[in-house]
Formats: sequence, structure tokens, C-alpha cells
Amino acid sequence: MIAETPRSSLLQMVRSQIEARGLRDRRVLEAMLTVDRAEFVPASEKAYAYDDRPLPIGAGQTISQPYMVALMTAELELKGDERVLEIGTGCGYQTAILARLAREVWTIEVVPELVMDAWHTLERLGLSNIRFHVGDGTLGWPDESLFDRILGTAAAPDIPSPWIEELADPGVALLPIGPLGSQRLLKVTLRDGELTRREFCPCSFVLMRGRHGF
Ligand code: SAH
Repeated sequence: MIAETPRSSLLQMVRSQIEARGLRDRRVLEAMLTVDRAEFVPASEKAYAYDDRPLPIGAGQTISQPYMVALMTAELELKGDERVLEIGTGCGYQTAILARLAREVWTIEVVPELVMDAWHTLERLGLSNIRFHVGDGTLGWPDESLFDRILGTAAAPDIPSPWIEELADPGVALLPIGPLGSQRLLKVTLRDGELTRREFCPCSFVLMRGRHGF
């Protein structure tokens, strides 16, 4: 059970949507309780900040469902000393969770105005271990590679090949793949030079644009 006592609606969100679905990773649950989703949604969506669904954040994009953020974070198996690359900053909610659980986060977003809003929010929350880039994240961030973890938060046809080149060994990359209506999470693990792929969990994400996107 969770020991902390944050705002009751946030606590209720974590208990009923995440713990109750069987996600028990203590560090992930604590991060979900520490980062208040309400800080990241636009004023018009505040009343729905703890809803069990994605919400619009402008520019036709969405903040992911809380459970999906928790599940993807848990699958990254962060211990605290990792360099993480995130593609699809959006409003910065997932970025904040990663920043609390890893050493440093590099995040790429293709829509400039979303990056500005995310930067302001994350700055206000005092998270200083995040580097931002505006551009096509399907190309990765070659100058800063290798990364211990790579997380995509929009759906691509398959894992973009630059991400494999930029993944450390051992390393984990995770992203949704597939067109609208038939997406699954793909987890790619690199260990001792060997890549393994696992597809699981039907899901629904906005589409990744760019060179290796849709
Ligand atoms: N991580 C966000 C979810 C954002 S939705 C959250 O926690 O709320 C996915 C985001 O990916 C959108 O903001 C979209 O603009 C962005 N995106 C799509 N294609 C991209 C690309 N090629 N490079 C970087 N970002 C991209």
C-alpha cells in the first residue's frame, strides 16, 4: 500500500486506476503520486485531470492515460542512474515521471509550442535534469547517445532504426507501434549484443510523424 498522503483525488487515481490493475512497482507508484497530473492539463481540462483516459493538450495531441504512463514507466525498469531518451514530450507529464526515476532525461518534441509549455511546467516543478529538443525524434539524438532507455509516446510503424543504434547495451526501448485502431506496445531489449522483441498490451496513441513515423 502507498504510505504518502497527497491530494485525495490524486491518491484515488493512483489506487483505483493503477494499483487496482495490478501495477505494484513502488517507485513508479510514488512518482505517480508526487507528480500531479493536474499541473499538466490545460485550464479547460482541469476538471478531468484525474480521469482514466487521455485528455487533449492542444495542437491535436493528448496527455496519455495515467495507467499507460505508469505501465510504460514500469516496463523501463528504472533504477535511478539511467540516461533516458523520450520522444514525444507533449505536455511533459511522462517526462516528469521519468525525471524523478532516472538520472537524466533528453526529450524531443516536434511541435514547438508544446515544448515551451512543457518547459515552463517542468521548470516550475523544479525538475532540472531534463534537456529539451524541438525536432523529429524518430531520428533520435545522436550527439547525446548512447541511452540506457528510449521511450516513444506516439505510435510508429515499427521501432525507428536510429533508436536501435542509439541504445546502450544493456538497454531497453519501448514504444507503441501500429496504425490507429490496432496498436500494441513493443519492448525491445538489448543485452550482450542480442536484441529481443516483445509485443504486448493493445493501446491507443496519437501517430508519430517524421522520417520513421507514419
Ligand atoms: N508524453 C506525453 C504524450 C504526448 S502525445 C504525455 O505524457 O502527455 C505524443 C507526442 O508526440 C505529441 O506531443 C506529438 O506532437 C509528439 N510527436 C509526434 N511525432 C513526433 C516526432 N517525430 N518527434 C517528436 N515528437 C513527436
